[in-house]
Formats: sequence, C-alpha cells, structure tokens
Amino acid sequence: MIDKTEAIVLRIIPYSKSSHIVVWLTPEAGKITTIIKGALRPKSLFSGQYDLFYTCELLYYRKERNGLHIAKECAPIKIRRNFRTDWRASACASYVCDMFQRVSFPGGHQTELYELADLTLDALAEQSARTQYIFWFELHLAQLLGVSPHFNNCSSCKKKIPDGSIPVISFDNGGLICGECMRSESINTSKTKRLGPDIVSMIKAWQSAPSPRSLQNVRCSKNQVLALKDILGTFMDFHLDISSQSREKAFEIMELNK
Ligand SMILES: [Zn+2]
Repeated sequence: MIDKTEAIVLRIIPYSKSSHIVVWLTPEAGKITTIIKGALRPKSLFSGQYDLFYTCELLYYRKERNGLHIAKECAPIKIRRNFRTDWRASACASYVCDMFQRVSFPGGHQTELYELADLTLDALAEQSARTQYIFWFELHLAQLLGVSPHFNNCSSCKKKIPDGSIPVISFDNGGLICGECMRSESINTSKTKRLGPDIVSMIKAWQSAPSPRSLQNVRCSKNQVLALKDILGTFMDFHLDISSQSREKAFEIMELNK
C-alpha cells in the first residue's frame, strides 16, 4: 500500500554501498523508517531530494511486517539552507532531531510533535542559533509529553506559591515547591534546587510564548544560560529519562568563539 505524507528527516544511516535508511517524523504516522534504494547511485531520482533537517513530501510503500518501509519518491518542501553553513544552528538542529527520534514512535497521530519540530527547525534555520530557542523547545516538548514543570502552584500541595517567596524547584515533584512543603518531611531536599526569581520569570514567560521567534530579542546573561541549562537538563533527566549527548554538544558548540 502506498502512503503519501509530509515528513521531516531526523536521521540518515548508510546502508549497503548505495542505499540509505532514513528516519522521518510525520504528522499522521509518527516516526517512520524507510529504505531508499540506490540513493547514492549517479542519476538516482532521490539525488538532492532529501537531507538532514529537510521537510519533504514522501511517497512510500507501507510494509507492516518489519516496520522498514520502502521510499518510492520524495521531494523537498523546506530545505532550511542555513543548516549547511551555520554550524551553531546545525548543532542545535541535530539535538532537536535527536530528541524527536527518542520521544516519537511509529504509528498514531503525532501532529503536535510534528508541528513543534517544524516550528523549532524553521526558527533555528532563520536566525543565528539562539540558546533560548533551545530552552523554549525543551519547555514545549515537556508540555506536549505531559511533564511540563509547574511554576504557578506548589507541585506537592497544589496551593498557589505566595508572591515574594524564595523559589525552590523539586525535580522529584515536577515543579516549584512552597515553603510549608519544603519544611515537611515528604520532600526529598537532595533533589531540590533554589532558583533565582529572574529564572522563574523567564521560564513562565517562555512556557506561554507561542513561538521561539518571540524570544528573538531576549538577552540572557552567561549565568542565566548556565542555570537554565542545568535546571531544564536535570528536569528532562528526571521526567523523560533522557540524557542526551547531542544536547551537551549543541551547548558546547554554541559557546565556541563567541
Ligand atoms: Zn506546598
């Protein structure tokens, strides 16, 4: 059976002398894997039609048995040219695609995940890579996966966090924790961290920002970047069980020769 879909290239793996295996994210079928036979042959119909971080229109024969579908045709819809020349943006895109590979799965509608991937890659390709785009992406990915950190109410007793109180995040509980709960014995204080009020304001604002582009003019100090990197990284380790080397690489590369 032939299916047609829009699809983002998450990963390309060489296979035999002339073929590729390509992992795609699609809105309707989730993560799919196709073999592209003869991709590397001269005059291949697939030549120049797909590459990492492209959005393509893909036609493929759906194989139910082993989950490896066969690509029939594909054509690029978005090339995102900047990723070929801007290595900071490219490192960010690698991290973003790595995350989608880990959290998406074959089958089922994953339209919102797909839209998040599309929006994040578009923003990273348009602008020079911005660290805060990555933070925006992580917060919105957590939201879609139902593990968004709570910053308005105490994540233990659910009461509103009083204004002016010292913000403390409990990674175990999944968000800020009020003073009363902190003093109770139910909170594992070794898994908490005190946050600056500036960090809390940033996270709260970014959680409700509809696009990374709205963070275009935000400037973060080095200390704020380090704090956000640490908090969101630890949070993802706890709630998604994902410790991504590509995240470390992306931050490392973004800091180079600044
Ligand atoms: Zn509480």
